[in-house]
Amino acid sequence: MKYIFVTGGVVSSLGKGLTAAALGTLLENRGLKVALQKFDPYLNLDPGTMSPFQHGEVYVLDDGAETDLDLGHYERFTSTKLSRRNNTTSGQVYQQVLDNERGGVYLGKTVQVIPHVTDEIQRRITVLAEESKADILITEVGGTVGDIEGLPFLEAIREFAQEAGPGNVCFIHVTYIPFIKAAGELKTKPTQQSVAKLREIGITPNLLVCRCEYPLNKEIRQKLAMFCNVPFEAVIEEKDVDHSIYEVPLMLQRERTDDLVCKVLQIDAPPARMTHWQDIIRKLIAPQHRVRIGVVGKYIELQDAYKSVYEALIHGGIANDCGVQIEQIEAEDVERGDPAKMFKGLGGLLVPGGFGDRGIEGKIKAAQYARENGLPYLGLCLGMQIAVIEFGRNVLGLKGAHSTEFDPHTPHPVIDLQVSQKNVRQLGGTMRLGSQPCLLQPGTLARKLYGADLIHERHRHRFEFNNAYREQYAAAGFTFAGTTPDNSLVEVIELPGHPFFIASQYHPEFLSKPNQPHPLFKGFIAAAHERLHAKPLPLPA
Ligand code: GLN
Repeated sequence: MKYIFVTGGVVSSLGKGLTAAALGTLLENRGLKVALQKFDPYLNLDPGTMSPFQHGEVYVLDDGAETDLDLGHYERFTSTKLSRRNNTTSGQVYQQVLDNERGGVYLGKTVQVIPHVTDEIQRRITVLAEESKADILITEVGGTVGDIEGLPFLEAIREFAQEAGPGNVCFIHVTYIPFIKAAGELKTKPTQQSVAKLREIGITPNLLVCRCEYPLNKEIRQKLAMFCNVPFEAVIEEKDVDHSIYEVPLMLQRERTDDLVCKVLQIDAPPARMTHWQDIIRKLIAPQHRVRIGVVGKYIELQDAYKSVYEALIHGGIANDCGVQIEQIEAEDVERGDPAKMFKGLGGLLVPGGFGDRGIEGKIKAAQYARENGLPYLGLCLGMQIAVIEFGRNVLGLKGAHSTEFDPHTPHPVIDLQVSQKNVRQLGGTMRLGSQPCLLQPGTLARKLYGADLIHERHRHRFEFNNAYREQYAAAGFTFAGTTPDNSLVEVIELPGHPFFIASQYHPEFLSKPNQPHPLFKGFIAAAHERLHAKPLPLPA
């Protein structure tokens, strides 16, 4: 078993997770089995209770773990299987240590950060390494070197590397090389200081991955090598991508990153075969077709809040050789605006998941516009609940129909708290979470797109379609295209006679990958293209 530890320097938001995932792609394509893990130094047990404004998207795994969005990159870039063990927070570590203390595990001892907290962190590396049966475990340490919170994690990986011995561990430091306009120069000092900080802790990086807006010239590379104590060839340039994040593995390959990692870890593996990946990039850079999609949400100004949704739309495009331009539309603006003007030129509308009532009426207006004008609509989780409310109010004439999440006293609670949620008091980790089975009805568009009767999709919700209204909706043509196998919970709805109006209670975006686009997104982009160009796409077989 070999170990790679990825740390970050100078600033946050450098794309450490993306770099770790992209390296995973390369190593997998060299025939190695890779596992990935993220350490998050905050005290929350998981990001599930954090606002997207704080943290970006909460990424949900099959087992129902609510995790950091970097795990989304891991799943999209590699074939690794993830569970709650793949995301450790300081909160989880401390909870375990305190449970141990109460349980008498440390009887007689003073419980301390070193060794008890650091031992627990190392235990989590070892457990995952053993369970994954991988050749290489890539562990990404969240935060920036120099943060107080991150220290126990850095000390733990230092100790771990010491035990594992030379040739078994590779440290990668992802850093930032700013360009100072007034001087017209790239600057290495922040990186020198960040590496100095790491070395003070006892970690010397084997590779420096340098995030930059301009290419690194030879002098800059020499300077970085000299002052950061790495070989010249271990200074890796990772420039901002021109088109797509899926270019990162190819960029790292050009810099021979995977060769270097294999050299440090004394692994003999053939070069990575990336032809299929190059084909994906080709479709992203020069697609045969193009389409514009509107995403109507409430966290629109935040690039990371709908990460997986945006990625899945791009994947739906790849499947159709169609470039997807995403228009981010603030739901509150739709409340005040004229939808005909706002949605002009769009091939489809997507309403993603969400919590809280801000912008809800704008989303309902968007769903109404899509339904009445034959504009393709894809609703995800809250986006399905919105479609139900809209249909109730405007087709069935259920005045004031709403979700009890937003109006507890609505005369028509068409969306209501799940029965199983009625007595839930704790907020963290208690929603209906993770992979659940769903049975699709014959003859529906959803069934046709999936090409299967039984599917499994990931969930994260507390509210559901209120079954008391099922008959009334069905009589008006509203189609329940998918339910739980016992038929107790509505999972997918659609509108027959509409070119594409599908909404799901689950989050299909979590299962989409560039090389395995999700069927709903694939169908949505095809329908959006047909709407704009009045002719179907020649779908690849
Ligand atoms: N707020 C809604 C619920 O809890 C929708 C959740 C979501 O979109 N993820 O059911």
